[in-house]
Amino acid sequence: MRPFEVYDTLSRSARRFQPITPPKVGLFVCGLTPYDDAHIGHGRFAVVFDMVARALRRWGYRVFYVQNVTNVEDKVIQRGAELGVDPLKLSDRYFRAWRDAMERLGVRSVNYYPHATDYLPEIIEQIRSLVDRGYAYASEGSVYYSVARFPAYGQLSGQKTEALRPGARLELDASKRAPEDFALWKAATPGEPSWESPWGPGRPGWHIEDTAITVRLLGARYDIHGGGVDLKFPHHEAEIAQAEGATGASPLVNYWMHNGMLTLRGEKMAKSVGNVVGLAETLDHFGPDVLRFYYLNAHYRSPLDFQPGKSLEEAREAFATLAKPAEAIRAAFARARDPGPAELPDAVRRESGTVVERLDAALSDDFHTREAIAQLFGWGRSVGPWLERLHELGSTDLAILAAPYDWATEVLGVPGEVAAPAADVGPVVEAALAARSRARARGDYAEADRIRDDLAAAGIGLEDRAGATRWSPAPRSPP
Ligand SMILES: [Zn+2]
Repeated sequence: MRPFEVYDTLSRSARRFQPITPPKVGLFVCGLTPYDDAHIGHGRFAVVFDMVARALRRWGYRVFYVQNVTNVEDKVIQRGAELGVDPLKLSDRYFRAWRDAMERLGVRSVNYYPHATDYLPEIIEQIRSLVDRGYAYASEGSVYYSVARFPAYGQLSGQKTEALRPGARLELDASKRAPEDFALWKAATPGEPSWESPWGPGRPGWHIEDTAITVRLLGARYDIHGGGVDLKFPHHEAEIAQAEGATGASPLVNYWMHNGMLTLRGEKMAKSVGNVVGLAETLDHFGPDVLRFYYLNAHYRSPLDFQPGKSLEEAREAFATLAKPAEAIRAAFARARDPGPAELPDAVRRESGTVVERLDAALSDDFHTREAIAQLFGWGRSVGPWLERLHELGSTDLAILAAPYDWATEVLGVPGEVAAPAADVGPVVEAALAARSRARARGDYAEADRIRDDLAAAGIGLEDRAGATRWSPAPRSPP
């Protein structure tokens, strides 16, 4: 497992990552409230945490990545009522559209998308535990968290609850003891979906859905919680208060990762502001590679100000420069007939390895994707002189030229997909293995090892077992 540092919002510092149970890593990211078409702001968090999961897996961590689906919530119910559609059917439709967009964007790292309504027993059990432990109280069929009972409330965001007391954001509600108290369970309203509970029919509050799911799936404490920086307060404060109150285990999360907002002319992109750019239309127009490149060519914590008619047009141009040598090298690799003699100077071979190491180093420094992309542009300049001569190179040399781009495809998800070894490499590999057997038979182990190393550099793994050698396209191993 490669060590790395990650900025933790709670301690406000970059910290060396230490999993609770290595090599396992529990990763939870606040997912979608599906009530309308997703916009490119949603795409950002999805790609950012996809990159994080890809990097961790490359480095040897076994990531269990959970992204929840808030399929019952005020906004879903309100929109369902506006359209005259059952809210759960509505959220299901938009969640399917989200999965389609994720598939197109190459976001396949999420292990599980739990829906809040599938966790009602866990939600009710957690609320009951909070009531039993004195953190929550029932009132008129609803249950509220008593914020005053949890002194650490506000530590993540630095918000003071006193500052909110007269705030316009908190509707005055006679059933609450204090204005900052938040609903864990909301008493049923006619015409809205509701479930039975010890406090009468109702539905869960937004915050409790997440912690009921994470305690069940990831345990009372887990490694990384991700989400947009706009969710720090009150949502993530509430999560800490709920989970730590209900389980007594602390801290809920060892590393809080928050991605910066995508803004449009300085304003957060949001349906309620009315300044949204659709995710599906953007994928139609620019394609997934350009959009992923655009997101990752900024540090994940920086705000990203989207300029229509400019941002993605510029990203498309820059991405084309980055992808052109990669495509040429991969096309030549697919055509290469055999491993071939080593034509590349040692300096170029060494540089390829150095660049891959720098790429891992850039991401080990709080996932500095912008620095990684700068390294890839640098590699593009280094391989430039070879682009006219690719047809002269064997697959071993071409794999060396491709290595930094293969890193990028594995971790950043661009450019394109890693080319699987072409179906017809079989006879070539068999020929190389026969040459290796002859070398070993005559005692030339140096030559035999050289052939094995060349095959490994071309992505072919060997396994000597019971007098026979098996080969397989090997996952490219970390340096
Ligand atoms: Zn959440």
